[in-house]
Amino acid sequence: MVTRLDEPNVDEITYLESVVQERQNGKHGNFFAGINDEWKTRASHYRQNFGNPELIKPWVAAAARKKTFSNLYTSPADGSTQGGVIATLRARTLQLCPACGEEGTPNTLDHYLPKEHYPEFSILPQNLLPMCDACQLNKGSKTVDGSNRKLFIHGYYDTFLAQQIVDLTISEPYDAPASIELEPAISLTETEIALVRRHLSELAIINRYHHFFRAEYLRLLRMVNSLRRTEQNVEQSLQNFGELAAFRSVNSWGHVFYRGVLSNPDLLAYLTQQQLPEV
Ligand SMILES: [Zn+2]
Repeated sequence: MVTRLDEPNVDEITYLESVVQERQNGKHGNFFAGINDEWKTRASHYRQNFGNPELIKPWVAAAARKKTFSNLYTSPADGSTQGGVIATLRARTLQLCPACGEEGTPNTLDHYLPKEHYPEFSILPQNLLPMCDACQLNKGSKTVDGSNRKLFIHGYYDTFLAQQIVDLTISEPYDAPASIELEPAISLTETEIALVRRHLSELAIINRYHHFFRAEYLRLLRMVNSLRRTEQNVEQSLQNFGELAAFRSVNSWGHVFYRGVLSNPDLLAYLTQQQLPEV
């Protein structure tokens, strides 16, 4: 449901030095010159702690100048250092949202640590991740729960994302399954499982996946009917579709769907041997 992305290849120290240098003759020149060292230290702290809001505390001095920082992100001057880096991140073409795994090109950049609470990371490339509108709406400016546990998986740093993190269970009746379950993969650690649960819940991914599932399951029944009519190997074909979906990501909604089908022997027996409904 979440996809690992390569961390932007930008050295935070030279990047921020360049941003500060470009402001030296502007109206906030003195402000940025005064905070330059602390800003660089905090950016390095972000990377060393993998953007984890359990460990990274907001910076009081930055909170007072929220607008000055966020203008760097929202209105970068033509040819500016951060403008170029942000444009490169926006231009990244993905086929799914890395936060939820739904197919489609995500059209916003999310601040993993929100600029409302962490304005100093408004333009830090390591804090900017592509995201779909539905995820962004649900995420808002949240970071941790009441027990100071982070709510969201970080696409650049949470390396367990390389494996499939959610398993789908489909229950009878197989002509129109009434219930499905999405559970964190048992191969994850307890801490990872708890994080996956918070992430799925906060981004309302399970509800959204239900809608996808209903449409995808009808498509599956139609497709299997067609494969059987033309005497093709159903299970082999489903394996192929699953592998194709894995090229997007093992956590794409399509791959999780096909793994749920292929790992269910009862459902496979139904699909290959029973009379299927014409849907
Ligand atoms: Zn999303």
